[in-house]
Amino acid sequence: MIVLVINCGSSSVKYNLIETEGEAEICSGIVERIGAVTSIIKHQPGNESARKESKVILNHAEALQEIMNFLLSSENKIINSPDDIKAVGHRVVHGGEMFKDSVLIDDVVKEAIEQAFDLAPLHNPPNLKGIEAAQERLPDIPHVAVFDTAFHHSLPPYAYLYGIPNRLYRRHKIRKYGFHGTSHYYVSRQYYKLNEKPKSQIKVVTCHLGNGASIAAIKGGESVDTSMGFTPLSGLVMGTRSGDLDPSILFYIMEKEELSLNALHAMLNRHSGLLGLSGYAADMRDLISEAKNGDRRCQQAIDVFCYNIKKYIGSYMAVMNGCDAILFTAGIGENSPLIRKKSVEEMESMGVVMDQEKNLNITPGKIEKISADSSIVDLYVIPTNEELVIAIDAAKIATASNQSPWI
Ligand code: AMP
Repeated sequence: MIVLVINCGSSSVKYNLIETEGEAEICSGIVERIGAVTSIIKHQPGNESARKESKVILNHAEALQEIMNFLLSSENKIINSPDDIKAVGHRVVHGGEMFKDSVLIDDVVKEAIEQAFDLAPLHNPPNLKGIEAAQERLPDIPHVAVFDTAFHHSLPPYAYLYGIPNRLYRRHKIRKYGFHGTSHYYVSRQYYKLNEKPKSQIKVVTCHLGNGASIAAIKGGESVDTSMGFTPLSGLVMGTRSGDLDPSILFYIMEKEELSLNALHAMLNRHSGLLGLSGYAADMRDLISEAKNGDRRCQQAIDVFCYNIKKYIGSYMAVMNGCDAILFTAGIGENSPLIRKKSVEEMESMGVVMDQEKNLNITPGKIEKISADSSIVDLYVIPTNEELVIAIDAAKIATASNQSPWI
């Protein structure tokens, strides 16, 4: 089945056209800077060279139209008719407490996504815009919402409750939700396929290390804890997000720096993390190269990043009474031997030993084992594929089949 996967940000629409039976990507692309003076459009049809252009794209509906025009154009011949697309899968960041699985989108679901605007003000509003634009353009096929939070629905109350008055949970649903669910789900399933043990006996720590970063503890196929919380701001230090900090710091800096709530929000989300620590860049490649040139603050940013990863890995091994594997994924996890090495070094007493040769010599895009033969815990690099999870869930729901190809 051909499924269109849509991921809408405030000024961008990413798409992937996926043939689900063969798990093959037919085309992908992005429309960026929607609403700016000129928008940038990129399409990547299969293995062909990428097509790029600049154009005025005023809103998400126009971006969708642009994407459909490209897919349908006689020159590109990617699909012959809109009817070739049998379902649309939408990435939705926050499903609140309502959704523990992907769902067929109807008015009630759209209302629930809107109710979660307060919980994810940067993500859910553009996600809903994308849904409405796509439903307008492709009205006769099923649209499915796949939530970043859904996989973490299995967290027990002792893992998702914060130590604040319980009425705040009851009134405002303040609790840990967790994000990057499709990625943690996907890489853990890839590991199960390599394993002879039944899923119910496998414990893994999945490290999604990208510009946004989170770690999950997955026991018997279910997420039992994860580093992101009420919002994607908590947990690990990220590209521009602070990760965990003492909440008193907020009152203190608001007063000392005379910051408004908006300014504080911007500082923690956009000017902190690796960027804030280094004062130089949010991008790990830039930090690694400057640290090599002797920049002390870039080196410190890398050290803080890796130290936090190690702390979470250690605590999740404690939570699960050990683990079978630690899995690295996403931009940094898949591509940086240095960060992988620093994140698990000197953990021999916990049964974690990396083979540095293997860690250095992996093939990009492939699943690679990087633990030493002496390691009790497996270490793997597993490329993530969140879009495939979304496409397969959308196909499954569109055909109303309960037979998931995932384990
Ligand atoms: P993502 O959000 O998953 O696209 O990941 C983006 C992050 O991956 C950025 O911080 C990039 O610098 C980082 N990244 C990509 N390639 C490499 C690499 N070869 N070495 C280190 N970091 C990388």
